[in-house]
Amino acid sequence: MKNNFIPALKEQLINSKKIVIIPHKNPDGDALGSCLGWKHFLETMDHTCAVVSPNEFPKFLEWLPGQNEIIKYSKSKKKSEKLLLEADLIFTLDFNSLSRIEPMNKIIDDCKAIKIMVDHHEQPEDYADLIYSDPSLGSTCEMIYNVMEAIDISVINKKIATCIYTGIMTDSGSFRFQSTTAITHSIVSNLLDTGIDHAQIHNNIYDAYSFGRLQLLGKALTNIVKVEALNAVYITLSQEELNQCDFKKGDTEGFVNYGLSLNGIKLAIILIENSQEKIIKMSFRSKGDFNVNEFARKHFNGGGHNNAAGGVSYDNLEKTTQKVHQTILEYKDQLK
Ligand code: 5GP
Ligand code: MN
Repeated sequence: MKNNFIPALKEQLINSKKIVIIPHKNPDGDALGSCLGWKHFLETMDHTCAVVSPNEFPKFLEWLPGQNEIIKYSKSKKKSEKLLLEADLIFTLDFNSLSRIEPMNKIIDDCKAIKIMVDHHEQPEDYADLIYSDPSLGSTCEMIYNVMEAIDISVINKKIATCIYTGIMTDSGSFRFQSTTAITHSIVSNLLDTGIDHAQIHNNIYDAYSFGRLQLLGKALTNIVKVEALNAVYITLSQEELNQCDFKKGDTEGFVNYGLSLNGIKLAIILIENSQEKIIKMSFRSKGDFNVNEFARKHFNGGGHNNAAGGVSYDNLEKTTQKVHQTILEYKDQLK
């Protein structure tokens, strides 16, 4: 964190009456955990806060403290726009490019509010007045914890800690990814001291599959393709397959990681058809030096982190799958 971030933030908080906090589209545990944790924290200081999400979030997050107060732009456009236009301060958490909140990004330019970005993705855009960006950290929740600690650690109660723990747990793959450090564990230790039920949090997220979701996982695993002689795999899921399994938002979360569980694998990709938006949404995961942030940026309109990134294709599933296969072959020296 740069030296001037906390003093500048404190100054903004003195004068702010209306605060809006925004996660990225299709928010995950880290995005919602950081937004809700930050909202609860600010509310203990008598600020008026609203979380405005670009769209719906998955069922497995529908238990987070305060989730029922989240305003969804996709459902309540007028209300969201009013909040955004009247805000003094807007926090954008867990994303660093306004394209990640489309189509809500169009209003942001008209907002008079001071914008503050807290985020751990690579290559932040330049839209915010105050930026705390650190791609070395495993989650935005860890960053928000750092901010809270610098302002007033004594305020962190069980409700706040539950939100923050959720994001650290989900973005670290339950504390197993490289970005998990001694500091991460020390933060988690402090969060546990507030009395959070970590076993229940894990259960809420990972052991709450619907029958359809488990069947869809079966299809995903059946569809996995290993690119011959290379340590790369990809999985496809068509809209038809999703429909057969009564697909709900969030059902495919984590599926790509099954590709990474293969011995020696360096790159795993999942391609998911969305016929309503006429796109193929993609997730990229890697182990070791293979940089999927660069891969997604260069070939698939995306980005993210070195070992976890996302992207999108506007071609159909068949064409996109061919492109994925061909592109993997271009990297054969790195993927042997
Ligand atoms: P996931 O594959 O879990 O959706 O996303 C992996 C990482 O890449 C996350 O940190 C996410 O924020 C980022 N990401 C996902 N989709 C996109 C995208 O379309 N564009 C960019 N720039 N980042 C993405
Ligand atoms: Mn994150």
